[in-house]
Amino acid sequence: MTAAPARPARDVLTLPLIGRMLKHRSGRVLLQIPFLLLAVLLIYDGFTGPQRAAENLATVVPWVHFRGVVVIALLLFGNLICMSCPFTLTRSLGRRFASPKRRFPRVLRSKWIAIATLIALFIAYEWLNLWASPWLTAWLIVGYFAASFILELLFAESAFCKYVCPLGSFNFAYSSGAPLMIEAKDPELCKVCVGKECVNGSFALTPLIRVDTIPVAGRPEGRQVQVTHNRAGVLGCGTELFVPQIRSNLDCTLCLDCARACPHDNVALAARRPFRQWFDPAAWPKRWDVILLIVVLASAGIVNAFGMIPPVYEVIGRLASAFGQVENGVVTPWGEAIALLLLFGVLAVVLPALLVKGAARLSRTLAPTKFTYTDRDVAAAFTPAFVPLGLAVWIAHYGFHFLIGLFTIVPAVQTFLLDHGITALGEPNWSLSGLTDTGVIGVVQVVVMVGGMALSLLVAERSAFRLYKRKAMPGLLPFALLLLAMMLLALLTFSQPMEMRGTVFFD
Ligand code: SF4
Ligand code: SF4
Repeated sequence: MTAAPARPARDVLTLPLIGRMLKHRSGRVLLQIPFLLLAVLLIYDGFTGPQRAAENLATVVPWVHFRGVVVIALLLFGNLICMSCPFTLTRSLGRRFASPKRRFPRVLRSKWIAIATLIALFIAYEWLNLWASPWLTAWLIVGYFAASFILELLFAESAFCKYVCPLGSFNFAYSSGAPLMIEAKDPELCKVCVGKECVNGSFALTPLIRVDTIPVAGRPEGRQVQVTHNRAGVLGCGTELFVPQIRSNLDCTLCLDCARACPHDNVALAARRPFRQWFDPAAWPKRWDVILLIVVLASAGIVNAFGMIPPVYEVIGRLASAFGQVENGVVTPWGEAIALLLLFGVLAVVLPALLVKGAARLSRTLAPTKFTYTDRDVAAAFTPAFVPLGLAVWIAHYGFHFLIGLFTIVPAVQTFLLDHGITALGEPNWSLSGLTDTGVIGVVQVVVMVGGMALSLLVAERSAFRLYKRKAMPGLLPFALLLLAMMLLALLTFSQPMEMRGTVFFD
């Protein structure tokens, strides 16, 4: 049963300064401009700067610092990354001149493309050594801008954000534990709202003035609100979320266009209890594409970390050799590509998909009830349990690179400035790195993993009780074992020496 959302405990949009700034029609652009300038700087340095990873901002910023900041920001605040994402600036600017009417093809409106782009990005990262190539990283950023621009130009909705962007999918999944979420302040008001501007927008090429009448107790004529649509208005929700129906952060880029467009000031950026969405069954659609996205993200996190420890070279060598792609004892580029495709395809997608389907079948076999659950119902109910563990894997992994290379940004900036004749910061100080005690980082990783596992089990246990009542424990068992196996695999991976990519120690 879908419970009506409780009234927000605190609406961030009502906070004195920050609320006004966020709701201002240029509020998001103000956040996007620094990131746009940063992206331009990375592209410039990537194409023209030194091509050693540790010396170039294009490799140090995204692969050492940005990823670490992303996971922490998602956990503590929510999808601030999409909120300030510069790639979507093209949508806002482009729509001032053209309004495409064509919809993204119905058959593609799911997370399947996003799963494919995620896996493609992970494979490309390893195959092309993106972390070591400023030039290729710069091209990747350019490609992001181009793909976003083209899709925004072609389709009415934000197809790139909702269906394609791998980073966005990551953010959607892991902002589910965040304490901030868009909500309708008063869902009843939405029922009488005429224009539904939160989703339809208040931007119009030709001015339109309308009067909404809101029922008010004791006033038969209600409260009249004049609604004006014109060029100064804002677009509706690009990912086509309808505020009174929102139950999760899935697909929400936190752009706040809904709050700006709503003529009734009925949209809140509500501060909620953290992790609430993980325990709310209404927040998780019963769709295989969403189930797989969450599970693939968790398993790809482990495979991605496996790609940075020595045994991976042995595995790649054997796989490439099986396809005759080893020449003079060296794996050919195509051999590596095939091996990575198999590694990610099998270990991050096919095997987890089969295991989740199998766990769902076993779960309902072990805990028969009078309800006729399908495998999909059961898998969807346990899906949120893969989020905390998956997030822990990514925090442990990205946290490693972030802590090891914490100060590597300093010599990279010094190098950039010196290359452009600015001596204010002196010669690059290559002795700066970060936490070099991998033992301490190892302890942090174990704590994060155990914490993630504990939360995953808690979420899974709640799901099991909701589904099976008194037979919850047998129903829980297959998923608990699957989560445990994933945690042990992740811990085993993190216990191996990991490459210090992007730092002067590994270049
Ligand atoms: S959030 Fe605002 S614009 Fe959207 S339906 Fe409710 S009142 Fe209307
Ligand atoms: S619901 Fe839509 S319009 Fe509102 S913040 Fe989220 S993505 Fe933006």
